[in-house]
Amino acid sequence: TNRTFTMIKPDAVEDGHTGAILEKITASGFRIVALKKTQMTTADAEEFYAIHKERPFFGELVEFMTRGPIVAAVLEKENAVADFRTLIGSTNPAEAAEGTIRKQFAKSVGENAVHGSDSDENAAIESAFHFSGREMF
Ligand code: ATP
Repeated sequence: TNRTFTMIKPDAVEDGHTGAILEKITASGFRIVALKKTQMTTADAEEFYAIHKERPFFGELVEFMTRGPIVAAVLEKENAVADFRTLIGSTNPAEAAEGTIRKQFAKSVGENAVHGSDSDENAAIESAFHFSGREMF
């Protein structure tokens, strides 16, 4: 068993898809270890996405991720990181497989409804960014 980290992004929260996305996640066998609705500041988003700071879309990404509340969660399942990436689908919703969260809820490559950690190491770093040890069960 291991863990991954996810955020339901501002586009999907604004559109009222939080409940449907959490339902799809738990129905796919993930257990919710931690969960909260929060809003990232500009400094938070710049730090969280520091790996992308030289990319041309960095400013747009920070604007988008701070424009409204997100729902952050830590999830547990065997093979959590890889299985969650499969469940969310391709970054570009036009390329996302049928049945994936991005196929159903994403609007574009930028406004793509959900985040999923890309490694066990990043899952731990990203979980610790949003949650203290006393918030993870
Ligand atoms: P995430 O890290 O959010 O799970 P990802 O790993 O599928 O997404 P990355 O390539 O790491 O995709 O990009 C991080 C995020 O940056 C994307 O989810 C998207 O919101 C945004 N992004 C990526 N490419 C573009 C782009 N060309 N234009 C605008 N935003 C983009």
